[in-house]
Amino acid sequence: MSCLEACNGRLPADKVSSMIAPGAGSAEYPMVDPFGRHVTYLRVSVTDRCDFRCVYCMSEHMTFLPKKDLLTLEELDRLCSAFVARGVRKLRITGGEPLVRKNIMWLFRALSRHLESGRLEELTLTTNGSQLPRYAADLAACGLERVNVSLDTLRPDRFKSITRWGDFSQVMNGLAAAEKAGLAIKLNAVALKGVNEDEIEDLVRFAHGRGYDLTLIETMPLGEIDGDRTEQYLPLSIVRARLMDRFTMEDIPYRTGGPARFVRVAETGGRLGFITPMTHNFCESCNRVRLTCTGTLYMCLGQEDAADLRSPLRASADDTLLSAAIDEAIGRKPKGHDFVIDRRTRRPAVSRHMSVTGG
Ligand code: SAM
Ligand code: SF4
Repeated sequence: MSCLEACNGRLPADKVSSMIAPGAGSAEYPMVDPFGRHVTYLRVSVTDRCDFRCVYCMSEHMTFLPKKDLLTLEELDRLCSAFVARGVRKLRITGGEPLVRKNIMWLFRALSRHLESGRLEELTLTTNGSQLPRYAADLAACGLERVNVSLDTLRPDRFKSITRWGDFSQVMNGLAAAEKAGLAIKLNAVALKGVNEDEIEDLVRFAHGRGYDLTLIETMPLGEIDGDRTEQYLPLSIVRARLMDRFTMEDIPYRTGGPARFVRVAETGGRLGFITPMTHNFCESCNRVRLTCTGTLYMCLGQEDAADLRSPLRASADDTLLSAAIDEAIGRKPKGHDFVIDRRTRRPAVSRHMSVTGG
């Protein structure tokens, strides 16, 4: 049985069709922001909770959203489907750790119907990898072709000190399970000054040796953490200059729909991406918006402005109000973020953590 059949078997037919909203919810009405950018990419944080406590992402003792504030999986499906109907072609499920949300495979199965219908080009996932041994095969069966797995180090002791609660071997097993399921893998590594900067070359060789892409990310000032961000921040311009001593890197036009700019590393044959929100403004081509697990839409990762979609979602069974609220929100999408990390700006640019809006 296909995922679509499995999913539709659980959802009443009238419910399924109302989710693919007619009328106002049609891709004939694409989402275009005031700067002429088409919004075609939605990232959804399905939970702010996580089984790790990465030092750059969370404080050790986090206060999470009350469970009662969370949208149900059915509501998340309806919201995502409304965005698909308005022209979203790429959907990334993220968190917190998305795979720790109870019954999360129900959502993947439900959303897979948009892949089967051709309305959605890609359904994908960002994960810390800890639950992939359990879910990789099911994810592939739902039409996922690629996953992003976050891995900042190859050293188990260092992994423990970065993630605080993570288990390195579990993530390695997760990568093996993803490979076995036929999923393409992209590793994401946050470059951290004095923490993993001596390992970047090893990460490149590890990823490319296994046929994975690797993307390096600059740490962004999101949410209060226990440490000092000025101490963690490592500009990728420095990392890139160092890598150029070891590797021949050629810019390539490859894009994943996100903000990374890629090079081909001649010595390994693999692709290496750079996400540089701090040293290079990547906003001009931004095609993304982000939805939280409480139904709040952030039009920019680096700004506080947001729109409440939970109220219009719950106010009516059809999507007319919801679609109007989406239009109103897209009309407020800002030109870009104003991230700064320096010794004078000790407070985060925005107070919410990356785990709320999703990476
Ligand atoms: N838990 C999953 C994971 O770790 O992949 C998904 C959510 S996590 C918030 C998504 C990505 O954001 C991860 O690659 C993580 O390393 C990155 N991240 C978290 N906090 C960050 C920060 N302050 N600056 C830059 N990247 C961050
Ligand atoms: Fe969890 Fe991902 Fe944040 Fe690490 S980066 S604490 S794995 S949400």
